[in-house]
Amino acid sequence: MRPLFGGESRNRGRTTLCAFPSSTTPQEKQELLKNLIACPNHEKEEVVYLCKDHDKTCCFKCAIADHRKCEEVKVICDILNYLQVKTVLIDFQQQGERL
Ligand SMILES: [Zn+2]
Ligand SMILES: [Zn+2]
Repeated sequence: MRPLFGGESRNRGRTTLCAFPSSTTPQEKQELLKNLIACPNHEKEEVVYLCKDHDKTCCFKCAIADHRKCEEVKVICDILNYLQVKTVLIDFQQQGERL
């Protein structure tokens, strides 16, 4: 699987968030964002951690089960803030292009 995070700034225009069709409503974006932060193994759980050792996001259940021995497991809320800010920035850019 492709890593969710990392190397994004070098791949502008090719991230998941950039793939929103221009007709996407804010609600739909929220849904997509939710899917993006849902744990692949536990769909009811939000990912809370980013394991740098595996380059994977995971929920707390996965963190306990799979990443207990990993050295770099980071809480993800900072990254989510970053993603949301980025989404807003992309909107802004797309509006700018239409003008
Ligand atoms: Zn999980
Ligand atoms: Zn890990």
